[in-house]
Amino acid sequence: MRVKYSYLEEQFKNPDYILRDLEKLVKRGDFTLGKEVEIFEKRFAQLASAKFAVGVSSGTAALLLGLQAVGVGHDDEVITAPNTFFASVNAIAAVGAKPVFVDVGEDYNINSELIEDAAQAIGANYRGRHVGNFGDTGGFSFHPLKNLNVWGDAGMIITNNPDISVSLCELRNQGLKDRDTWTRYGHNLRISSLQALVGKHLIKDTSDLTERRIANALNYDKELRDIEEITFPQRMIELREVFHTYVIQAERRDELNKYLNEKGIESKIHYPVPLHLQPATKYLGYKKGDFPQTEMQAERIISLPVHPYLKEREKKKVIETIKEFYR
Ligand SMILES: *Cc1c(COP(=O)(O)O)cnc(C)c1O
Repeated sequence: MRVKYSYLEEQFKNPDYILRDLEKLVKRGDFTLGKEVEIFEKRFAQLASAKFAVGVSSGTAALLLGLQAVGVGHDDEVITAPNTFFASVNAIAAVGAKPVFVDVGEDYNINSELIEDAAQAIGANYRGRHVGNFGDTGGFSFHPLKNLNVWGDAGMIITNNPDISVSLCELRNQGLKDRDTWTRYGHNLRISSLQALVGKHLIKDTSDLTERRIANALNYDKELRDIEEITFPQRMIELREVFHTYVIQAERRDELNKYLNEKGIESKIHYPVPLHLQPATKYLGYKKGDFPQTEMQAERIISLPVHPYLKEREKKKVIETIKEFYR
């Protein structure tokens, strides 16, 4: 038995209802923004309890445009975490700003009030408020391996500020206010209308799939709790986590990872090398030892398969194999 990390085959066994709808879109030729984008944006804003949602070409584009819409550019510094995905920092560099890292806490996060990178966090909330609504804008990714996934790249930005929402709509579409009025320099970072159609359908499954992820994660918490060699991140009760990844810390992490993989369990590491120690950020002058919590976690973290299509016997196998390793 293999316990896979990815679940796409399982999720898209029967995509005919979406394909039929795509066929209609193709026949209408509604390829640039258009009706499907509007519907998806409306449904997403509702899901995330935000006033506005603007569809863009990826989660990275959501971060980049969010920064530009609030005026971040050259001479600005943007604080972020060194344990995030590369895109958070690529977006900062793309608007000409300087990334500044700060260490994370035992919950693996930094505190933030600027632009939220909520790329993996659809359905997550803090004290009942959906993430993405705390900063000026919140960026989400619909990459095939994110919690609400489409058939390629797409993303969404939410905001509750009408002026920012207008800026975002212009920035994603060449800086155009309407077909013939060019108000500012912009980009072509529109969401694909085909992906918006796919998202419009899949968003209906999101809360159910999220519940299943959470149940899988809490089950791991419970079953692995007694293993001394494993440490769990701080779980705040005010926080509803949605477990795009299920990350714990383990002693002899590399050996455990290898053992699990040999036994057919696809565990992964998100991510082995913190961003301040990567070649791309060398010019910023950071060195090993600058962010002790992040660096310690990078050597100990491991991500277990937590996707909503895991079968009972697969979950059992993961738990038993970890227990066996430490026995
Ligand atoms: C996936 C991800 C992104 C980028 O999203 P894309 O849609 O792949 O561009 C940004 N930040 C984080 C934390 C992510 O996980």
